[in-house]
Amino acid sequence: MARGRQRKIRYTPQDENPQLSLMPEHDFDFVKTAVERVKVAWTFHHHMNPDGKPMLMAYSGGKDSTCLFFVCKQAAEELGIPMEQMFHIQYNVTNVDPPELYRFIRDVMKKQYPFIEIHHPKKTMWKLIVEKHLPPHRKSRYCCSELKEAHSVKGGYTLTGVRRAESTRRSSRKGFEIRGQQKTDRVLLNDNGVDRRETEFCMQKNAYICNPIIDWSDEDVWHFIKGRNLPYCKLYDEGFKRLGCIGCPLASDKDRARDFERWPGFKKQYIRSFQKMLEWYRSNERERERERRATARHLAFNSLFRRAGCV
Ligand code: SF4
Repeated sequence: MARGRQRKIRYTPQDENPQLSLMPEHDFDFVKTAVERVKVAWTFHHHMNPDGKPMLMAYSGGKDSTCLFFVCKQAAEELGIPMEQMFHIQYNVTNVDPPELYRFIRDVMKKQYPFIEIHHPKKTMWKLIVEKHLPPHRKSRYCCSELKEAHSVKGGYTLTGVRRAESTRRSSRKGFEIRGQQKTDRVLLNDNGVDRRETEFCMQKNAYICNPIIDWSDEDVWHFIKGRNLPYCKLYDEGFKRLGCIGCPLASDKDRARDFERWPGFKKQYIRSFQKMLEWYRSNERERERERRATARHLAFNSLFRRAGCV
């Protein structure tokens, strides 16, 4: 029988005291599977990198990342390898992260696990908007590739907390796949697409991607977090289902409106950046108009000189 149907207990962020003793034994199978996936990824990674280079863990501080982190911790403990030797855990600041999420990572997680690296980008989202002359868009997620994607491990494994259940559609596809061969086949590391798999190979980055919790449901996630009393960002207790960049083009209009209401300073900063971006278009327009007039004047002089027999 499918494990989803067997499970009786359901946890949400609002559950205070889950009774671990009531959890049926088979409920832990999905954790074991995820831990095994990490161990297998490590075996391959170690084989490719005998110098001991760690695997990269793309950590965002959200609920899925929290599960990924503690699944990896368990894998490291079972293998008897210090976590910091096995993983390079990196949180990429985007400057549009919810402040509570950033503080959770800095004040709770990093304090307990100092080897988590908080990476600040050279360019902020605000600078990128002006430089790219375009707001971030579903079809042009330059911010993701510039702020989050630039650091995957070449010739090794990157671990992500991607889950299919985060996608609006479902898929039963599993296994190994080579991605990035065609333009339409390119994915970003934090895509929760229906066709994401346990293990992937990114041709563009020459990197393997392992998604150990790819098949976890939302219940599995909260079951794991609450059942083990793991730390998590308290924004979930306020009813947030997903945490990510404020104003992200991938979020629904409703979620973005809620984010801007909750963090009005970010809305103001977006508007300021859009104004600067529009200023570029306006000055470019003025530049083009000046060029057009100069050309017209030049042509008029030429024809005048021709008529006067000077050329
Ligand atoms: S998650 Fe959204 S806003 Fe954040 S970097 Fe990616 S596309 Fe941009």
